[in-house]
This record gives sequence, structure tokens and C-alpha cells, in this order.
Amino acid sequence: MSELEKVFERIDSYRDDVIKLQAGLTSRIALGPDNEGSGEHEKIAFVKDLLKGFDPDFLEEIKAPDERARDGYRPSLVAGWGEMQDQSSVWVLSHADIVPPGDLSLWETDPYQIKVEGDRIFGRGVEDNQHGFVSSYLALKAVLGSDSETLRPICLAIVADEETGSKYGLQYLLQHNKDLFKKDDLIVVPDAGNKEGTMIEVAEKSMLWIRFIVTGKQCHASTPGKGKNSLFGAARLIVALDQLKARFNLSDDLFRPSVSTFEPTKMEANVPNINTIPGRNIFYLDCRILPLYKVDEILAACKEIGAEIGEELDLQIEVKAAHREDAAEPTSPDAPVVKALIKAIRKVTGKNAKPMGIGGGTVAAFFRKAGLPAAVWSTISDTAHQPNEYCLISNILTDAKILACLYLDT
Ligand SMILES: [Zn+2]
Repeated sequence: MSELEKVFERIDSYRDDVIKLQAGLTSRIALGPDNEGSGEHEKIAFVKDLLKGFDPDFLEEIKAPDERARDGYRPSLVAGWGEMQDQSSVWVLSHADIVPPGDLSLWETDPYQIKVEGDRIFGRGVEDNQHGFVSSYLALKAVLGSDSETLRPICLAIVADEETGSKYGLQYLLQHNKDLFKKDDLIVVPDAGNKEGTMIEVAEKSMLWIRFIVTGKQCHASTPGKGKNSLFGAARLIVALDQLKARFNLSDDLFRPSVSTFEPTKMEANVPNINTIPGRNIFYLDCRILPLYKVDEILAACKEIGAEIGEELDLQIEVKAAHREDAAEPTSPDAPVVKALIKAIRKVTGKNAKPMGIGGGTVAAFFRKAGLPAAVWSTISDTAHQPNEYCLISNILTDAKILACLYLDT
């Protein structure tokens, strides 16, 4: 039997470990202050003990000051096994924090007490993001005893505050401990993916939310000549904004959808009654912009269109970014981490995985902004943040095998 087969056989015997780990993690509630919790301390302490059990070459708890949290800080952990200085390491980053369970009446079980049903484990956090931690940890457990000569240095990071912006988690880590990571490390973030385990996220679109305030003059609906109808102006403006699609129509097949998107979404309430012509309308445009365009270009085009319609209809139109996140430089589809994942996925499941881009919002963007190529991947059921969140034991074990291939450089 080959070394790899032995590792896989070990992982196949870890069903009970998955259940035990998920039970321990789920019962330690890790909610950040923004979600009315005190922080990730209990869960991080639990994980720290687990990692200590494997005798790491380094293990550090990083405390990001946050006066709202218990003891004034938010804890994250980094640990490593092997000679990190001399060769590229495999990093797997998962997050300790969870989102609140939401409406408890929608749950069929206690969200903080796992329930096992066949291949499924139910509980808050079991998928997002305990799936990621458990698979990386069990892969480590399986390879540590192996005599493989190609074993790469292995590093795990378990961070705070992913669910509410990462300021006290990965962002803090990259500001204060950036030298932990090397440019040629293989950084995997198992925090999104698809059911087949074939989606490797390497790029994000920029996100731009624009607020349009259309101001006219309110009057009685029977005498439109005495006012200026802001709703009519908003409607004309929304239609005019559709030209963005033609003006910024370049596509990139890495992304789904492959083009930038410009969608009018929220409309704030105007007048409460039918017989008044509104004098003010506020609406929003959600733009997801391919990295080949600059966010400022789009904003400038929107201001231009707003000015044209404003002049034509004698309305005042204010165009402002309500929120923006400029995309980081994508991880190259040829980056070593992407190639290694594709190879490992093929080896374990026989499937062809593909590097892809999404509409925005993964924690890997912080790595990319710091010049570190990271890939987001996992085999998940997509139940994150939902009531009755669950994970599949079989997916965790499959992902553990795939990560083990990365650890073993095979
Ligand atoms: Zn997550």
C-alpha cells in the first residue's frame, strides 16, 4: 500500500472524530460583539488545546484589541509544523466566529448542540466554518504520522471576526504578523465552494453600491405644472443607467456571470399618498465590476448620466457611492495553490475543478490585497447562515483527503 493510500485509509476511519470535533466546536459559541457576543475566546481555547496535542513547531495566539470583547481582545491562532523558512508552506485558514442562529422557531434542533442524522451533522457553524477547520485538522492528523519524504510545512490559521469584516481577524493578522506568510506559500481558504467541490475561487469583482437622490418639487397630483416629479425623474434615470451595460461590456470567462452587472435595487419610500407628486426619490444601484474596470470610471459615468437627466428634466440629481470595495488583484489561475488543488481534487474525486471568479465578499481578498495568492475552495452544502445549517461528514473527509494531498505534495 502506498503512503497516500495509508493516509486515505486513516482519514476514512475519522467519522467519529468529525462528530466529536463538531460537537466540541459547536457548543463553544463564538459570536463577535457586532452580533451581541463576547468574542471567540472559548472556541479558540478549545482549538488551541487540540493543536497543542500535535506538538506544533510554533503556536501563537494573536490578540487583536477590541474593548467591546471579553478581556478587551479578539483571539486568533496560528500554528505550524515543519521547516517553514526553507520551503513553501501550505496554509489553511478557517474562521472561528459564527453568525447568530436567527429565528429559533425555524430550527428543528438546538443550534448549539449538534445532531447527527446519517451523513449529516446539524448545528450553527458546522459548515461555516467548522467544516474548513475540521478537514484541515484531520488531514494534519492523518499525515503527521506518515514517513513521506515530500511532506510540506503545514500551517493552520483560525481567525476571529470573519463574519463582521475581519478587522479583528485576518486584517489584524496581516497588519501585525504578515511575515508569517510567504509569497510562494499555498494559501487555501475553505470557506466557500460548491456541492461538487469543483469551484476554486481566485478572483472577485469590485463592489459598488450607488445612492441616487433625485430632488424635484412636491405638489398636488392634479396640478403637475406647479411641481417637478422626482419619481418620473428617477424612472428616467434608471432606464438611462441601463446604458452602463453597453458601455462597460467587456467580459471575462473566469467569472459567472462573465460581465459586470449594474442592477437598480432598493427604492426608498417617497410620499405616503397617491394624490401627491413626490419631490424626492432615493434609489440604489448595485454594481459588480470586473477587475479590468476601475470603480471610479463607473462612478464618473453614473454622475455624467445623472447630470444629463437632471438637466433635461430640471431636477437635482446627487450621485454618491454608498459602499465600495475595490477588487484585489486576482490570484492567477496558474498559481501553485490553484494547480495543486486541481491536481488533488482530480486524484481524490476524479473531478475537474476550475478556477473561477465571483461577485465579491470573501476573506481571501485580504490575502490578495497583501500580495499573497490565496484560493477559496471547499465541498459544501451551501447551508451557511441558514436555520438548520448542516454539513456532510463525507464531504469533510473528502476535503481532508484533498488537503492531505497538498500537505504531502503529491
Ligand atoms: Zn464563513
